[in-house]
Amino acid sequence: MDRRPYVAAGKTRRQTRTTHPAGMTRRTEDALIVGGGLAGLSCAITLAEHGLRVRVIEAAPRLGGRAGSFFEPRMGQWIDQGPHLLIGAYRHTLDLLRRCNAEHLVHWQSSLQLPLWDPQRGRFALHPSPRLPLAIALPRALAMLPGHSFASVPAMLRLRFGQAGTHETVVQWLQRVRAPHELVRDFLEPLCLAAMNEHMDTANARSFQRVLVTAFANHAHARLGWFRQPLGLCIETLAKHARSLGVCITTHTQINGVSHRAGMTVLRSQRGEEFRAPHAVATVPPWHQHRLSAPVATPASNPITNIHLWFDEQLRLPYPFIGGLGTQGQWFFDVSAQTRQRSTGSHLCVVISAFHAGNKRTLVDQACSELARIMERKKLPEPCHSRVVCVRRATVLVRPHLPPNLPTGIVDSMEHPAPGQLPATIEYAIERGKQGAERVLARCQH
Ligand SMILES: Cc1cc2nc3c(=O)[nH]c(=O)nc-3n(C[C@H](O)[C@H](O)[C@H](O)COP(=O)(O)OP(=O)(O)OC[C@H]3O[C@@H](n4cnc5c(N)ncnc54)[C@H](O)[C@@H]3O)c2cc1C
Repeated sequence: MDRRPYVAAGKTRRQTRTTHPAGMTRRTEDALIVGGGLAGLSCAITLAEHGLRVRVIEAAPRLGGRAGSFFEPRMGQWIDQGPHLLIGAYRHTLDLLRRCNAEHLVHWQSSLQLPLWDPQRGRFALHPSPRLPLAIALPRALAMLPGHSFASVPAMLRLRFGQAGTHETVVQWLQRVRAPHELVRDFLEPLCLAAMNEHMDTANARSFQRVLVTAFANHAHARLGWFRQPLGLCIETLAKHARSLGVCITTHTQINGVSHRAGMTVLRSQRGEEFRAPHAVATVPPWHQHRLSAPVATPASNPITNIHLWFDEQLRLPYPFIGGLGTQGQWFFDVSAQTRQRSTGSHLCVVISAFHAGNKRTLVDQACSELARIMERKKLPEPCHSRVVCVRRATVLVRPHLPPNLPTGIVDSMEHPAPGQLPATIEYAIERGKQGAERVLARCQH
């Protein structure tokens, strides 16, 4: 059982932590970044590429935050809290992967293929023809789904060219544009949950419209991608690149005090260490902001529940993932196929967005029964292991948030998507990190 791959090559887990006696002040860096998730790494890499000396300070033993992996001792595997999907429109993500020579970590569809299943119609797929422009191919493919008609074509045009209200919910907007029921049920509702991690009756229409316009601009944007390895290993590739640019990474260190002295921002850790630099960037989730500033109201967030199932038998889904309609599980992932594991058994994962896990046994039974029907089997064998991972605060919801009111000297790069902005995703985190870096660079020039 190899626990080491998720640690920098050649280093043990303990060596990645940099320790200093309490009260000792470190060498001055140009910029300190609080939080070592994707936003923090994106910020650090951007600043280091511009020649700044940077330190990332992370509270946890490992980098990655919500996009991290943990070691599952029973199966001897690193697994993600939940599988992540990307879309081709994630241009900041693609750019960061390219700059880190890490494009190979993501498998991309050649064009959008969205496999779906429901109890009445069985398996079918939304697969716009790549030979036609997407603006024509998508409405055509939607009209050809079982139970659909060309009535959805004018509705798609109204969704694309009409203006969603800033304070409208997705339900209100779809009613206003008279979106046909089947278009909502099979396409817009699952998309809203997947992209916004929020149900349509409260999700913000303006941001959802932005998702639709961005994701379906062309075939390259609309295709889906997934990581070929556990996310933690991908994060380690980004961290390795950051280190090669001179970025110092300090883990196991929670910042819980900030002051500003003689033009320097001073960050104080829970062990009393001090870090000082002319610039500091906060990339922590807003529910950890109270450690950097006076207490603030925590913005609304939603959970995501992931039901991981391992089987001794090799069970394969017909696609690497399938969207469920009218099912409790929303996305059914064949993790073994996505990560190309060659073991004899299989690892499947059922994801439920905007849902807080209840009784584990019931969730596992329900997931197995839905998977069996998708695989057209009477019953699945009993899983040899299962684990329900509920990330209580998975994403901050799109709302008109107040400015975070951080102490002087700290650049805000935190998650607070406003109406009209893209929702909280990998892309939003990487873009935020880059924007934080650009603000620091602008300050350096003054
Ligand atoms: C289960 C799940 C599934 C998801 N699926 C998708 C998906 O399919 N597609 C997609 O695009 N997005 C998805 N997301 C969203 C995506 O993972 C997040 O938006 C993104 O990882 C957030 O990155 P971040 O760097 O902003 O925050 P985080 O990942 O939360 O990183 C912040 C870091 O700051 C550290 N920290 C906090 N306080 C302190 C402190 N005081 N001192 C030092 N360090 C501190 C934390 O330990 C953490 O590591 C999913 C999220 C979850 C949870």
